[in-house]
Amino acid sequence: MTLVDATTPATLPETATTPLGGPTLPQERRLVTSIPGPASRALTLRKNQAVSAGVGVTLPVYAVAAGGAVIVDVDGNSLIDLGSGIAVTGVGNSAPAVVAAVSAQLAQFTHTCFSVVPYDSYIDVAEALNRLTPGDHEKRSALFNSGAEAVENAVKIARHFTGKQAVVAFDHAYHGRTNLTMGLTAKNQPYKNGFGPFAPEVYRVPTSYPYRDGGLSGAEAARRTISQIEKQIGADNLAAVIIEPIQGEGGFIVPAAGFLPALVDWCRAHNVVFIADEVQTGFARTGDLFACEHEGIVPDLICTAKGIAGGLPLSAVTGRADIMDAPQGGGLGGTYGGNPLACVAALATIATYESENLVGRARQIGAIITASLTAIDDPRIGEVRGRGAMMALELIDPATGEPDAALTGRVLASAHAQGVLLLGCGTYGNVIRLLPPLSITDALLREALQVLAEVLAAS
Ligand SMILES: *Cc1c(COP(=O)(O)O)cnc(C)c1O
Repeated sequence: MTLVDATTPATLPETATTPLGGPTLPQERRLVTSIPGPASRALTLRKNQAVSAGVGVTLPVYAVAAGGAVIVDVDGNSLIDLGSGIAVTGVGNSAPAVVAAVSAQLAQFTHTCFSVVPYDSYIDVAEALNRLTPGDHEKRSALFNSGAEAVENAVKIARHFTGKQAVVAFDHAYHGRTNLTMGLTAKNQPYKNGFGPFAPEVYRVPTSYPYRDGGLSGAEAARRTISQIEKQIGADNLAAVIIEPIQGEGGFIVPAAGFLPALVDWCRAHNVVFIADEVQTGFARTGDLFACEHEGIVPDLICTAKGIAGGLPLSAVTGRADIMDAPQGGGLGGTYGGNPLACVAALATIATYESENLVGRARQIGAIITASLTAIDDPRIGEVRGRGAMMALELIDPATGEPDAALTGRVLASAHAQGVLLLGCGTYGNVIRLLPPLSITDALLREALQVLAEVLAAS
């Protein structure tokens, strides 16, 4: 990295005065002010006067450009991005194919509303999703704007198809911030506190969390879950089971092998729709195109969003044709769902995942991260876990094994100060997650991992 005197307020370096995004940005960590710098601090003052306090910020530097795996801020600092805007920019920020596709579409038309006057790029995206998602059965897709909206619609569709109402969600689940998805989400702070009442007919059951459930096998954890469902809800009342194949906000929790397949089998035997929420795990992130593929499970419905469109807002529900075709015409949709700019961005993004073999790249990234993190000899690391380019560290007090959220906060703050954007997560606030763009170079990734090791040692 370049380290210009971090104590002197900024004079913007050449590259930051007219920064171009995309891969033209130098892929480097460069600190020219303290983090946040003076221009960002001034913007925070304005934010606090203009933006609702309910809209939180992880790292209060203000972006002016981003490309590949770096974000350049208003003070001219270049940060290594290990968050990808929460697993969104898998193909890199302002990926050239996405920029070209969206620019061309902008000049053609920006909006007609697919439910008013349709266009073919929406169909192209649906065909791509039907082709790429697990299972070779006949499928249909519907497009929306956000992950939460996809989840809401998956539940609507499952209820309509089964004629049943109850929905099962899991401990540590995260499904979004709308009313129904808040209800499905497990964690009170900050997602639910003060925002009730929540939607009825949502039931919470235990998940498989090998590090914290005494190492229950997948089969044992599934038996516990299914027994609770049968005793407390009953399959006759249950429309859907929704689960993240690797839980994201909950702490990158990878269930024990066999847990997910047992749930799928039970759902199939009881006319319960199995919904995989792959909003965070989807699109090459875990080293498979979809995380369900790891154990060969085939969900009835799959929700996708984040990594789907290179940063443009798009989400989808894809699944069995008989389920997806159950709702009446006009029952699904929305003004912006499947907006043409987002659709062409998705097509370019999906083509990039395939042509650049980003599934393979995610596995390489996972191997580099795993080697680096497991080489750290520190008893405060309770577990290194994850899959592909979705990896995490769970930090504990080694004396008690209890989660150490305070340490986690210190490590994140120090990494940010050193120009490495890392995110926290976890029900207990003690997990550091790594979600680099799949376009990150080995050199930049190794530099960021080195910083993480150093700030952990010093925290
Ligand atoms: C982010 C996320 C959501 C919500 O997506 P939004 O686009 O923020 O509404 C839902 N499910 C999972 C697993 C997520 O990670």
